[in-house]
Amino acid sequence: MSASTSDLTTLSPLDFTTYLRERGIRRFYLVHDPSEGRVRASHPELAQLADFVGSDRRDFLDHEGLFFELEPVHGLLYGAFVHRTCRGQAAGGVRFWRYDTVEDYLRDGLRLAFGMTRKNALAGLWWGGGKGVMVAPPGIDVRDAGIRAEIYRGYGEFITSLRGCYVTAEDVGTHVSDMAHVFATTRHTTCIPPDLGGSGNPSVPTARGVIAGIEAALATLGHDGIAGRTFAVQGCGNVGSPLIGYLLERGASRVEAADVDAGIVERLVGELNDPRLTARAVEREDSSILAADCDVVCPCAVGGTLNPDTIPKIRAKIVCGAANNQLLDSARDDAALHARSILYVPDFLVNRMGIVTCADEATGCIPGDPWIERHLGRDWDHSIPNALDRVLHLSRESGRPPGAVATEEADRLSMIEHPIFGHRGRGIIDHLVAAGWQRSGA
Ligand code: NAD
Repeated sequence: MSASTSDLTTLSPLDFTTYLRERGIRRFYLVHDPSEGRVRASHPELAQLADFVGSDRRDFLDHEGLFFELEPVHGLLYGAFVHRTCRGQAAGGVRFWRYDTVEDYLRDGLRLAFGMTRKNALAGLWWGGGKGVMVAPPGIDVRDAGIRAEIYRGYGEFITSLRGCYVTAEDVGTHVSDMAHVFATTRHTTCIPPDLGGSGNPSVPTARGVIAGIEAALATLGHDGIAGRTFAVQGCGNVGSPLIGYLLERGASRVEAADVDAGIVERLVGELNDPRLTARAVEREDSSILAADCDVVCPCAVGGTLNPDTIPKIRAKIVCGAANNQLLDSARDDAALHARSILYVPDFLVNRMGIVTCADEATGCIPGDPWIERHLGRDWDHSIPNALDRVLHLSRESGRPPGAVATEEADRLSMIEHPIFGHRGRGIIDHLVAAGWQRSGA
């Protein structure tokens, strides 16, 4: 490739890392300067990226700072996207994924990071919101245990260099076993394996949270629980599988499921061995499961599945699932569901239990921990059912869609400062900039 290309956002991540290497850039940042209302790049060669991010009105919501590092051995690009740290350190998992362009990579990180701010705030956690995103060049065997160990140890060192403005966790493409390697090189991580004192895989708690959301949504429509109702689940992975198990356990009369991985479908059907469950393997672009004739549709695969192609075909009265960023365009698609009188349970309200379980794991754990269980019941103001009731009440009163109402409430809560540490994350970012973080660790 020509490493002197004029539009960095259109480069593939591989070409972009070549661009960085040719200019001797190992670390760089894009940091929001609130006094000037603009984003500053650590290097003049990257000013274009700062302008791109700072002028975007869809995915950039005044994120406090974005930090990046070129991993020296395998050529990965490490990223830490810090959105807002008023309530505490920016917390959110590290995604290990493929991206076609630098723009795709940046947009995903920006969206995931503000999603975490909203999720954490609405859950009443004293954490800000952020996300890690790593991308590997083609040709790296990411299933090789030795390579994974190196990659995740390196990611931990990168996180350490950020002095705690971002605290990482497990996410798509990252396994709990990887978190042991991260933990070996930084204290700023959660979701570590139970044998190291962590809470482990967050997926089963996440499925329980979705069940609590489904029950509350059904109650709103006058139904008495899951028993006798019908469901469609897109994605039978770490969250989808236990969710299906819970639905059947609670007396669902029919569950239809789809996954792109035929092996997962076969295993699930074999394990549950229940005539009420039908599951099929589908092509990646096949979203027909969302149009199933059922009471509740549960998107538990990837983001962006609620869009102008799928929404008109939905027959269920409730959409409630674990996938992050289900609405392809939050304002447009939230309104489209509302216009069709489909009750959309905002994903960041209902899929919180993963982060709830791991966020405070350093403070110890008790089986059946009341600190965690309170998110599922009716006794605590910020619980999933109570938060959902409040959002739906405000939505009915104002005529606005629930996603918009939940977003406004989450944004309000996210500005409240930590009762002990105040807006400390911003202070850490300012220090990193002043100390020339981009020149350190070479
Ligand atoms: P996973 O990777 O284990 O499962 C996702 C499943 O979806 C996979 O089996 C995959 O084959 C399938 N899939 C992908 N594209 C599909 C498509 N087009 N149609 C049907 N199936 C498809 O991930 P997970 O941990 O189960 O998470 C599922 C979603 O929930 C993700 O969006 C994740 O970000 C979100 N989430 C997960 C957690 C958690 O605790 N794991 C917490 C919050 C949010």
